[in-house]
Amino acid sequence: MTIHQSTIELIGDTPLVALHHVVEGVRATIAVKVEYLNPGGSSKDRIAERIISAAETEGKLAPGGVIVEPTSGNTGVGLALVAQQRGYRTIFVLPDKVSESKRAVLRAYGAEVVVTPTDVEPDDPRSYYSVSDRLAATIPGAFKPDQYSNPNGPLSHYRTTGPEIWRDTDHAVTHLVAGIGTGGTISGTGRFLKEASDGRVVVVGADPDGSIYSNPHDVHQYDVEGVGEDFYPQAFDRTIADDIVQVTDAQAFEMTRRLAAEEGLLVGGSSGMAVAAAVRYARMRDLDEKQLLVVVLPDSGRGYLEKIFDDGWMREHGYGAVVDATTRPSLVA
Ligand code: PMP
Repeated sequence: MTIHQSTIELIGDTPLVALHHVVEGVRATIAVKVEYLNPGGSSKDRIAERIISAAETEGKLAPGGVIVEPTSGNTGVGLALVAQQRGYRTIFVLPDKVSESKRAVLRAYGAEVVVTPTDVEPDDPRSYYSVSDRLAATIPGAFKPDQYSNPNGPLSHYRTTGPEIWRDTDHAVTHLVAGIGTGGTISGTGRFLKEASDGRVVVVGADPDGSIYSNPHDVHQYDVEGVGEDFYPQAFDRTIADDIVQVTDAQAFEMTRRLAAEEGLLVGGSSGMAVAAAVRYARMRDLDEKQLLVVVLPDSGRGYLEKIFDDGWMREHGYGAVVDATTRPSLVA
């Protein structure tokens, strides 16, 4: 009999699946790590568990404590899930570009949600960073995990995501491809895989057009959620990525829709972005059959049904060509 005592025990050990339909012209194998199969629906469950456990051990979080964090949604779900099981209250601060359905999910887990404007500088008093700092400073017993600087974020990937990929590929992985948000995933997973392979594994970052990582001279707004930044977070180890591939919103969204329609993977925009980067990189470097790329797919497409998967939203936001390229004529007359 195998009965888990809590959903927390279901975090990690996500599977790898090879892509076959969206990889035209690629000879190398591209396999994806399906992080939406974590209990909270994203890779962020991993960091939540380690950050909360470490805070308890270090005495930063005690019974009756309140967790306050600026988050694009997924970290909030992970933290809310772990926090409710351990008896903590949670308050999340979100930029207004985060979809309504993601906010509803946080509330469903019992969290409180504060929404802030996206289009302000990080040091603006209205920014989600500033608002969460203020709440953390004024609420008694508050703990701010700060996923952008907390070393337990990258450490969770160093201890779990990296070893899982190494084990599940029988050490044959040659490339890791991951989007960069806080940088925790690529830094922790990449560092583990580089150490385990004596530096053989190549680490490739995927980054939205408009983010600082791929072009610090042209930072501007973009629509893909959860990845890219306008500053360099401490969680991002700039020595780990060997290459960074820039992906436009349109390329990311087209691949996101193709993954659902052709590979049976209903994933979010940052997953489409990472796969688009992997496919382009494999073609650009002419990687052969001996190469095995593993791409991290951070979350599910369920949180984006009214955006990336909604033809009306896509056309209104200038992605009509993507809709035309990915919408199949209905089989029902
Ligand atoms: N994709 C999504 C949807 C995310 O929420 C995040 C986390 N911000 C990432 C990718 C990037 O992961 P990381 O913060 O570890 O770089």
